[in-house]
Amino acid sequence: MTLFDFFESVELPVPAITPMQAADIAAQHFGVQADVAALGSQQDANFLLRDLTGVPIGVLKIANPVFSRIELEAQDAASAFIAAGEGIRTATNITLAGSPPIAQIDGHGDGDETLFPRIITYLDGGTLSGDAYLRPAQVAGLGALAGRSCRALANFDHPGVDRVMQWDLRHGIRTVKVLAEHITDPGQREVVEAAAARAWQRVTELADDLPIQVIHSDVTGDNVVCDRDGIPDGLIDFGDLVRSWAVGELAVAISSVLCHDGAEPATTLPAIEAFHAIRPLGPAEIDALWPLVVLRAAVLVVSGLQQSSIDDDNTYAVAGQNQELRIFERAMQIPLDVMTAQIRTALGVARSCDPITADATLIAGLDPRDTVRLDLSVESDAMDAGAWLEADCEDRLARAALAGGARAVLTEFGQARLTRSVLLSESSPATVATGVQLWPATPLTITAPWAGALEVAETGDGPLLTVIGSAGTLRIRGGLRLSAAAVPGQSVTAGTDLGTIEGPVWIQCLRHPDTAAPGDAEVPDFVRPDYAAGWLDRVSDPAVLLGLAPTTQPAEDAATLRQRRSRAFAEVQEHYYDQPPRIERGWREHLIGTDGRSYLDMVNNVAVLGHGHPAVADAVARQWRRLNTNSRFNYAAVAEFSARLAATLPESLDTVFLVNSGSESDDLALRLAMATTGRNDIVAVAEAYHGWTYATDAISTSIADNPNALSTRPPWVHTVPSPNAFRGEHRGTEASKYAPEAVAIIEGLAAQGHPPAAFIAEPFYGNAGGMALPDGYLRAVYAAVRAAGGLAIADEVQVGYGRTGRWFWAFQQQDVIPDIVCVAKAMGNGQPLGAVITTREIAESFRTQGYFFSSAGGSPVSCVVGLTVLDVIETERLQENALTVGDHLKSRILGLAARHPLIGTVHGSGLYMGVELVRDRTTLEPAAEETTAICERMLQLGVIVQPTGDRQNVLKMKPPMCLTRESADFFVAMLDRVLSTGW
Ligand code: PMP
Repeated sequence: MTLFDFFESVELPVPAITPMQAADIAAQHFGVQADVAALGSQQDANFLLRDLTGVPIGVLKIANPVFSRIELEAQDAASAFIAAGEGIRTATNITLAGSPPIAQIDGHGDGDETLFPRIITYLDGGTLSGDAYLRPAQVAGLGALAGRSCRALANFDHPGVDRVMQWDLRHGIRTVKVLAEHITDPGQREVVEAAAARAWQRVTELADDLPIQVIHSDVTGDNVVCDRDGIPDGLIDFGDLVRSWAVGELAVAISSVLCHDGAEPATTLPAIEAFHAIRPLGPAEIDALWPLVVLRAAVLVVSGLQQSSIDDDNTYAVAGQNQELRIFERAMQIPLDVMTAQIRTALGVARSCDPITADATLIAGLDPRDTVRLDLSVESDAMDAGAWLEADCEDRLARAALAGGARAVLTEFGQARLTRSVLLSESSPATVATGVQLWPATPLTITAPWAGALEVAETGDGPLLTVIGSAGTLRIRGGLRLSAAAVPGQSVTAGTDLGTIEGPVWIQCLRHPDTAAPGDAEVPDFVRPDYAAGWLDRVSDPAVLLGLAPTTQPAEDAATLRQRRSRAFAEVQEHYYDQPPRIERGWREHLIGTDGRSYLDMVNNVAVLGHGHPAVADAVARQWRRLNTNSRFNYAAVAEFSARLAATLPESLDTVFLVNSGSESDDLALRLAMATTGRNDIVAVAEAYHGWTYATDAISTSIADNPNALSTRPPWVHTVPSPNAFRGEHRGTEASKYAPEAVAIIEGLAAQGHPPAAFIAEPFYGNAGGMALPDGYLRAVYAAVRAAGGLAIADEVQVGYGRTGRWFWAFQQQDVIPDIVCVAKAMGNGQPLGAVITTREIAESFRTQGYFFSSAGGSPVSCVVGLTVLDVIETERLQENALTVGDHLKSRILGLAARHPLIGTVHGSGLYMGVELVRDRTTLEPAAEETTAICERMLQLGVIVQPTGDRQNVLKMKPPMCLTRESADFFVAMLDRVLSTGW
């Protein structure tokens, strides 16, 4: 029996079979009565069979008649083999009693075709077809599945696998050559052919060392099915089963990742790592991988165009064309050698790169002692106060160092420069330097570091001098005056005088042998951190050529730091995100990772003024130098700050306690209420969070913070229902029923002999997602608690201090005056600072408990922080900003809600908002998993936002109050992108 040879029958139109004919085949050959629906396929005819109740029976697969029975038998056998060997779900032949596993229909079509229909299992869970975004875990899942398929099939053989397929990458170049004519645009054809040829050349060099075995050869998004989390766990369509290079299994899977939204070469690394963990890649396989991805992409482009040219009814093939081009373009984004080095690094097998040394010093007489190394990293002190955002920051710092007496100033090789960071960017910016910059104080003579050939070119920055030696290529560009010896084409010996450096120059040193292929991009001056390992593999630290020490690369990345943290820091103090970036700087509403990636910070409500505010830093530094002690001493700051704080509140609230946190302020408020009333019972609102101390934890019933919160309340804690007008028991206008309900509970407690000491609530419900309380709620409840002899406590820890825009204190929205106000967070802009503000009389009641003292509460430094924060809120008009930018943001998100049904509602006011995500606007089913996944993807797009609320389905939005309109618009654009393209 002859097996298929693509090059003998290049055209494979899908067998022309209607759903009606398919139903007949199912009935006649398999005795199955079924509803039939066509499924797409590039070259077979597939139909989903359902029974009369709609339950899937299986998939009727009618292979392209060019394939012989033994090939189909091989596919069925391989499928069963993988299922048995790896325990993964695969689509296997359903052999029905009384029917053959593979039926035969002779004389189809023009009468000379034989069809081999069979029914295989239908696997539920859905595929990863289409171009929606894939999470790193899904990408890893695809790689793992390819790894398991490859591992299992290493032990499989069958006479039906030695076929000649266009998808077998061993025939990749031949396929591209045969089908390239289908690319009608000559320019594009040339690009695809050239890319395939280059990739092929690389693969051929390695081919002898590439293991060969049977592979599925089509582990793509279309051919996997997923578990409930959307992670691929099943494999279908064995139609391309073939003996080929084992690593091809992975190359195919990777290429399919590239068509998805936001994918790029670096985002495929989780698949490579997952594959490697299951089926380790050999050195040649690692080196051949990206060339094979490019080759696969080229095959996809030409095959897709060919299939639609012969079969323009095949919507599956036509729809795939854009995807195929996208895969190709993305595979080509990074040169082969750069991506290969990047993969090696990801797999922990990077080649070691010692710096290239010089035979003669490039610049004689440069002494490390009078050469200043300019630190432009995220952690450099020179970057404070947003200095890095000035266009000439690097130059200014260098010139300042020269003015300070340096002979030369040199930047660091391989450093991620904050000065190259870009705010509000959806992808990481090119921050990593592949060379160094040098500023001379006076002209410096340069000599050839090695013997080599010279090249000279003019660039926009000045002359570019290249010395091509045997160990490396030196490139110097910029403020050069070349000597008579610097003649293009000239060969020079080491030490030849090449001219002088008179102004700033850029110096790059390329390694030899240069792994770049002709036509590959030159190494850019700056590269994105995602590919830095790959690019830096091509270059060497030029500082060594100057007789200076090489830059030591920071050894600790974000993941290593996280491990170190978990060794010494109690892990119950959780962290945001699966893989949090390492953030070491903040500026205004931006946080910046050590790789120079900036993130828009939508969650740091504590940093009201924004991060890194120089006014706070300066005031603190000054006060620290002068005095920091405790409030038992007599100094002005404590008097001044207490008065300023009391002045923000209604007249009756005139007495201040200073503490260090929200928990402490709430705890003290409870003690004050208990001392004043002589009672112990407290009424709190369900779903609240008030702190971590023993008492504040007792009154916190948010299950997001403590899953056992409701069942572990001590008897003195009583709750009233969360007055949630969106999804609580009473919704919309019915929400007015919450107040009488709470009143009845308070009255009931009093009647049972447990009149409460206090009622405590956030006056704007921050913990539930930033929702306003129903109108009149606090007025009624405060009246009831006071009627029962208790006090009203407002927890303004999250929502106070102007954040809601319309009010400085959130209780103003409810038109009430509490007896005790608790505040923290914003008060110190991140410095531990909290306060309780109450009446003189209530404050005095504490005397029954002894006296009150908090060592650092009210210290001079804390008071100065508090005063400065109030000053800046005023001078920078941050409450006003919270209102205007907040309103703008809210209206823009409501605009998104018109297009994205997942947005159930937008709660909040000013810059305290919550975007509540629901699966269904009628049932309000919380979209919790979606919310978490959306937050993860937003991080990748440069936005930090987190879930909140008991159902974890609200995006909490409480950014620094200096948020600009531009930043708000960026947030909306990224949310729109995620909601449109997936998470
Ligand atoms: N009350 C409320 C409403 C809060 O949100 C928090 C903190 N999330 C606290 C009190 C406790 O504040 P801290 O973390 O400063 O102790």
